[in-house]
Amino acid sequence: MGKKQFKTESKRLLDMMINSIYTHKEIFLRELISNASDALDKLYYQSLQSGDTGVKRSDFVIRIDTDKDARTMTITDNGIGMTRDELEQNLGTIARSGSLAFKEEHASDDDDSATAKAKRATDIIGQFGVGFYSAFMVADQVTVTSKAYGSEEANCWTSAGTDGYTVEPAEKDGHGTEIVLHMKEDAEGENYTRFLEEYEIRNLIRKYSDYIRYPIQMMVAKSRPKTEEAPEEGKMPEMETFYEMETLNTMEPIWKRQKSKVKDEDYNEYYKSKFNDYIDPARVMRTSVEGVSSYTALLFVPGHLPYDYYSKEYEKGLQLYSSGVLIMDKCKELVPDYFNFVRGLVDSPDLSLNISREMLQHDRQLANIGRNLEKKIKRELVKWMKEDREGYEKFFHDFGRQIKYGLYEGFGMNKDMLADLLLFYSSTEEKNVTLDEYIERMPEDQKYIYYVPGETVEKINMLPQTEAAKAKGLEVLYFTDDVDEFAIKMIRDYKDKEFRSISEENLAEDQTEEEKKAMEELAADNQELLTFMKDTLAGRVVEVSFSGRLADAPVCLTSKGGLSLEMEKTLNRMPGEEGIHADKVLELNPENPAIQSLQETFGKGEDGKEVAAAITRLLFNQAMLISGLTVDDPSQMGEDLCKLITK
Ligand code: ADP
Repeated sequence: MGKKQFKTESKRLLDMMINSIYTHKEIFLRELISNASDALDKLYYQSLQSGDTGVKRSDFVIRIDTDKDARTMTITDNGIGMTRDELEQNLGTIARSGSLAFKEEHASDDDDSATAKAKRATDIIGQFGVGFYSAFMVADQVTVTSKAYGSEEANCWTSAGTDGYTVEPAEKDGHGTEIVLHMKEDAEGENYTRFLEEYEIRNLIRKYSDYIRYPIQMMVAKSRPKTEEAPEEGKMPEMETFYEMETLNTMEPIWKRQKSKVKDEDYNEYYKSKFNDYIDPARVMRTSVEGVSSYTALLFVPGHLPYDYYSKEYEKGLQLYSSGVLIMDKCKELVPDYFNFVRGLVDSPDLSLNISREMLQHDRQLANIGRNLEKKIKRELVKWMKEDREGYEKFFHDFGRQIKYGLYEGFGMNKDMLADLLLFYSSTEEKNVTLDEYIERMPEDQKYIYYVPGETVEKINMLPQTEAAKAKGLEVLYFTDDVDEFAIKMIRDYKDKEFRSISEENLAEDQTEEEKKAMEELAADNQELLTFMKDTLAGRVVEVSFSGRLADAPVCLTSKGGLSLEMEKTLNRMPGEEGIHADKVLELNPENPAIQSLQETFGKGEDGKEVAAAITRLLFNQAMLISGLTVDDPSQMGEDLCKLITK
C-alpha cells in the first residue's frame, strides 16, 4: 500500500516537531495521556447519551508499557477509538492548523536563521501544545492501532515522519487505541532512553498527569523474598523479581485535594495542560460552597490574551463536573459575557449525570451557581486591583474592553458590578486611575467627571481642548477605546457624578458668570461673521461660536447632543452604519491672531468675503484633522490654500 502525504500545514508542524530543540520534550507523554483520557471521556459521554449500559466506567484504563530492547513505549486506552476515516482525518491533518497559520502570520518571518526558526517552533509548541504530533519529538516511528467502539475492524496508522503515513487493516482486541513509539537514538545532549525507564515515567505522570481521573497503569518490577521462611542468622534472604500492575496517578482531582496540599505550581500546571495554554494563569480562584446548591469551583484568569479572544471563534464557558465526572465542556450559563475570559470548572454533586444541554439551560441551580461565581470573580478582581496594581493593569489592558462591552450591552444595568473595575488614563496622574481615585481627588466645587475621547494618549494630548483643560489644572480621563464613550453614556454617572466630555460643546454651566458674559458680548459683536461662517460650512457644522477655553489653538471641533466625534468615527467603521454624523460645533479662540485676522478680512466688505470663506474652510479642515477626522474635499482645500498664498 502506498504512502499518503500529510496536509501541508501538518507537514510543516511535523517537521518542526522532528527537528525540535524544545527543551521540554517530555510533554509528549502528557499530550498522549490527555488524548487517551479524552477518548475515555467521549466513550462515557456517548454511553450516557445513548443509554448504552454496556460501557462501564470502572473498566476504563490507560496503560503504559515499555520494551527496552525494542526501544518502544506503548500507550493504550480502551476509549472510543477511531475508525479508518478518523485515523486519516485526525492524524493526517493537524486539528490546530488554523492556529499554526495564525501564529506564523504574526511572527516576524523575515529572519530565516536556524535559531529564529527553532525559536518560532518552540513558541508554537508552547502556545498550542500540539498534541499528538509531539510524539515525533521523541520517536522516529509512531504506530497507532485503533478500533472504534461498536466497530468490528481495526486499523493501523504508521508514520516515520514527514515523508508520509500509511493506514492498513489490523488486528486488535477490544475497542480503543494503542500507540507505539519507537524512541529516537540518543544524541548529544538528548537522552531518549530515559523515557523507557520506570522511574522517569513515574515522575512524568506525577508531574503532569496525576489528576487524570482514569487509572494510568504500568507493569512494574518488584522484588520479594523467595520463601517465607526467615533466612539464616546473618544472611540476607534470597530475593526474586515479580511483576505487578500499579496505578501511577492518584486520580484525585486537584480541586478536591486539601487546599494546603496544593501548591501554586500544581494549579499552574493543571491550568496549562487542561486549557491548552503556555503561560501560567494570572489569577487562580478556588471556592467551595455548601448550601442550597453545593459546589466547588476552580477558576483561572489567563495570563495573556488568547489569540482568538476577540473573534467569533472564542467560546466562553466553564467545565461542568458532577462529582468528579465531566458532564459538559463549555457550560455557558456559568459565566456572564463580561467575565467570559475566566476559564475553569465547577463540580457539583447535586447535578444529575445525564442531564441534557437543554435542561441545563433552564436549570435554576446552575443559574444560581453562575450568580455566585460572578460575585466571587468580581470580589477577586477588586482584591487583585488592591494587592497587585501592576498585575491588574496588565489584566485590564487585555480584558478591560470586554468589561466595558458589558456596561454597554447591559444598557448600564451592570454598573454596580463593573464600573469600579474600570481604569482610564488620567491627564494629571499620567497613568491609569480608577473612577474612585478620580472622585477622591476632585475639588469640592467640581461637578463632573471629565473625559476626552480620542485614538491614543498622544493624539489626545495634541487636542486643543485637552491643552486648555490641562492649563486649568482639570483632571481629565482619556477614553482611548472605541467602546469607552458608548459604555459611559449607558451608565451616565458614577457615585452621583455625571460624566462630561470636554470635546462636547462648551456648556454654559461650565463657565463662570464673567466668562459667560464676555462670550455673549463677543457673539453679539460678531453676529454677522458667525452667521457667515456657519453658512459657509453649511451641512458640516450646526454652529460656530466663540469659546473662552482654548489656550493657543485658533479653533477646535466639539459636538452637540448625544453623538460625539469619536462615536461618529466608530459607527462609520461599522458596515451598514456609514454616513452617520455628529452635530459639530466649530469653536473659535478670540485671542488667536488667525481669528483676529479673519475678523479683519471679513470687515473689508464684499472684497474680503471670498478670502474669509477660504479661511473659514481651512480652519474647519484644520479642526477636523486635529480631531482625527478626514477632510471631505481635499481639492477645495488645495484651492483655498493657493488663494491665501497668492493673496
Ligand atoms: P487535539 O487532542 O487537541 O484535538 P491531537 O493532535 O492531540 O489534537 O489529536 C487529534 C485528534 O485525534 C483528537 O482530537 C482525537 O479526535 C484523535 N485522537 C488522538 N488520540 C486519540 C486516542 N487515544 N483515542 C481516540 N482518538 C484520539
